[in-house]
Amino acid sequence: MSDVTLKLDGLKKAYNHGKPNEVQVLHGVSLQVAKGEVVALVAPSGAGKSTLLHIAGLLDTPDSGTVAIAGEDLTKLGDRKRTSVRRNDVGFIYQFHHLLPEFSALENIVLPQLANGITQVEAEAHAMDLLARVGVESRAQHRPAALSGGEQQRVAFCRALANKPKLLLADEPTGNLDPGTSDRVFGALMELVRASGLSALIATHNLELAARMDRTVRLNAGLIE
Ligand code: ADP
Repeated sequence: MSDVTLKLDGLKKAYNHGKPNEVQVLHGVSLQVAKGEVVALVAPSGAGKSTLLHIAGLLDTPDSGTVAIAGEDLTKLGDRKRTSVRRNDVGFIYQFHHLLPEFSALENIVLPQLANGITQVEAEAHAMDLLARVGVESRAQHRPAALSGGEQQRVAFCRALANKPKLLLADEPTGNLDPGTSDRVFGALMELVRASGLSALIATHNLELAARMDRTVRLNAGLIE
C-alpha cells in the first residue's frame, strides 16, 4: 500500500492543438498528496485548476505526464480500468451540488452505492451515518430543492464519500455560499474527511480556508510554485 495517494508527474495540457487559439494550460505540473493529507490548491481564475482536477480524477487526459493513484500509474490504462478507479477510488465535489433533483438526499447517497453492488439496507445505513456526521440526518427524506444551499453541499459531500474513495477532489466546494455558511460547511467537510482518513486536494480562492488544510500549493502560469 502506497503512502502517496495521488502522484502527478510532469503534466502538460493544451486546448485547441495546432489552431491559432491554442492555449497551453499546464506546463509540467508535479504534485503529491500523501495518505490522509489535505492539500489546498490555490490559483487565480483561469490558471488551470479545473483542468488539473479533471486530469487528476481521470475525467480528462494529459498530453504528457502521469497520474498515479495509490501507487498505480493510471495514464496508460484502458477506459474500463480508468472508469472503475474513478468510480471506486475518487470522490468529486463541485461548487454546485449537482444532486439529482427528483431523488431525496438519502437516495442521492444510496444510488452510487447500489451501482457498486452494495445492498439497499447497507447503503441506507451508511448514507444515514454520513448525513449524521455533517448534521443533516433530519433532512434525509427531503429533495434537494427543499434544502438550503449549505445543506445541499453537505449532502453532496456525503455522496462524494459514499463509495469510500481513497482520494477526494474538490473544486471550490463552498464557493457559492455566503461567508458564514461557507465557514461552517467547510468545517463539516473537514470533519468528514478527517474521520474517513482519506486524502484530499481542494481548490479554493479563500486563503482562510486554505490555512485550515495541511498544506497549500499554488498553481500559477501552468506550474506549481
Ligand atoms: P480555472 O479552473 O483555474 O479557472 P480552467 O482549468 O477552467 O481554469 O481553464 C484554464 C484555461 O484553459 C482557461 O484559459 C480556459 O479558458 C481554457 N480552457 C478550459 N477548458 C477549455 C476547453 N475545453 N477548450 C478550450 N479552452 C479551455
